[in-house]
Amino acid sequence: MQTAKITVAMRAPQFSCDPKWSRRRALIERSARFFSEALRIDASLTIKIEAHSSKVGKGTHGHAQAPVDGVCRIRVLRDLPASRLLHVIAHEMVHAKQFQTGDLTIVRGVQTYRGVRQDQLAWDERGHEEQAERMAAQLVDAIVASMGRAETTLARI
Ligand SMILES: [Zn+2]
Repeated sequence: MQTAKITVAMRAPQFSCDPKWSRRRALIERSARFFSEALRIDASLTIKIEAHSSKVGKGTHGHAQAPVDGVCRIRVLRDLPASRLLHVIAHEMVHAKQFQTGDLTIVRGVQTYRGVRQDQLAWDERGHEEQAERMAAQLVDAIVASMGRAETTLARI
């Protein structure tokens, strides 16, 4: 299976001289690729991740848009604590998978998951969010295990 193409764009380039910048970029790209392979997101989808600074970004830690012409755009805040950032990326990648399978659709603002309208439900009653949270926890456990002890000191990444 060919896996999804993934690009990462770091926003707010005025901070790009910071060595933390390239480590963060590498962490985002590496983890997104790991999660894409684990979720078996195939090459029919291109995933474009935009990593914003919380200093200029606003609102939620992450967001995945319904794909347009095969491109799924994901926004994340890049300067979250590393373990939280991994969870957010994993969560949004699960949404990408839900979009790819057609389980999750958004048509004219109406969000449907497996035939059930979601956007009028409370957040914790939304089936696609419940699945994203549950699978994100498993995916983070898996990437931490795969990186090995030396690198699992997440605070260092
Ligand atoms: Zn979500």
